[in-house]
Amino acid sequence: MDIANKDGMFFLPPPVTSALDALEEKGYEAYAVGGCVRDLCRGVTPHDYDITTSATPEEVEACFSGRRIIETGIKHGTVTAIIDGEPLEITTYRTDGEYLDGRHPESVTFSSEINDDLSRRDFTINAMAYSPRRGLRDPFGGREDIEKKLVRCVGEPDLRFGEDGLRIMRALRFASSLGFEIEGETAASIHRNRRLLRLVSAERIYAEYKRLITGVFAARILTEFRDVMFTVMPELECLEGDEYENAVAAADKAGCDVITRTALLLGREENLPALRRLKPDGRTYSSVAAVLRHINGAFETDDVSLRRLLGGVSYENARRIVDARRARGLMTEDEAARVTANLNEMEARGECVNVRMLAVTGRELMELGVPEGARVGEILSRLLEEVITCRAENDKAELIKFAKAMREAQGD
Ligand code: ATP
Ligand code: MG
Repeated sequence: MDIANKDGMFFLPPPVTSALDALEEKGYEAYAVGGCVRDLCRGVTPHDYDITTSATPEEVEACFSGRRIIETGIKHGTVTAIIDGEPLEITTYRTDGEYLDGRHPESVTFSSEINDDLSRRDFTINAMAYSPRRGLRDPFGGREDIEKKLVRCVGEPDLRFGEDGLRIMRALRFASSLGFEIEGETAASIHRNRRLLRLVSAERIYAEYKRLITGVFAARILTEFRDVMFTVMPELECLEGDEYENAVAAADKAGCDVITRTALLLGREENLPALRRLKPDGRTYSSVAAVLRHINGAFETDDVSLRRLLGGVSYENARRIVDARRARGLMTEDEAARVTANLNEMEARGECVNVRMLAVTGRELMELGVPEGARVGEILSRLLEEVITCRAENDKAELIKFAKAMREAQGD
């Protein structure tokens, strides 16, 4: 199940081993730590590597003199070294001081003990360190929890969530994305402490939410921890009857896309404030809003209707709408596949779906004598309607002829 070789060694990329060596050669301890060790134990290639060391930030800088160093978070003990063009975060072993606000430690203290550093980490699966010369450090049974597929707090759950409420969302995110369960006591503590999330900034919650909603286990976690979801998205609590279950089931059937799944979870446009409060980027928010507008009610899928739809939503969002409707059972698999293929072809053909894509511009109409102002927009809209309904080709000469005919008919 893991990719450790027969000597219990994991493969670390050359920049990581050379950073570990640089620190060890000067007499310090150094390990790869956190998510990368978790992924190595799972047999998954890590997407990045963090290093933890007994060296203080100044000592780390001295070890890497001559290489590019960024003083990312010196106060918190983090130095970023650029090794073979790759940024590597190197953090001094530390313990966190008291948490008074449920968000940040009042102070951090550097330590010379790896176990101090591992014990401040959130979950057992994230509290392991590995180095080729020192082997695996796993004081909390992280490896066993990986085998059992469990997310479990390091230490007393109530205390750990009390220190930092974000860990509640992180537990849900890891369970959802890794396909793990949350261990019983940790789960009970999450339910008890869910309101601590109110102390956590929207941006940090949203970053974890995105990974939770797109996880393979999302439906299970959203169901088991609906009370937590209602704390971060109170509007969901107002969904009636089995609307929440249906929303979760639909989100689960949809592709792994934050926008489609969020639209399905919210279910209705009135629930958009739940998303707005989490402060997503503007593009995500407006895409969710666009998908939500078309997820309920009638939806025509003939070419003309699709072109009309595309006047208001991007191709990407149109495909999300189709997927969302399929997931809700409003469209059959076959129909969804046919419409998606049709959308792809329209996009490839560069089909005209809005006035900006017309072969004639407002300026050209004015050159023909149309007075500047509302009348230009009106004629463009009518030309678009002609093109969308295939009564005219999107061809400059033809559209100009049409425009002239319209003006004559109107007598202007
Ligand atoms: P990913 O693969 O998503 O990057 P990760 O485990 O590396 O997962 P990060 O958010 O990058 O997650 O955090 C790196 C490590 O820092 C974690 O593995 C964990 O040991 C520790 N950590 C991060 N956030 C917290 C927190 N809020 N409380 C305690 N430890 C944390
Ligand atoms: Mg990480």
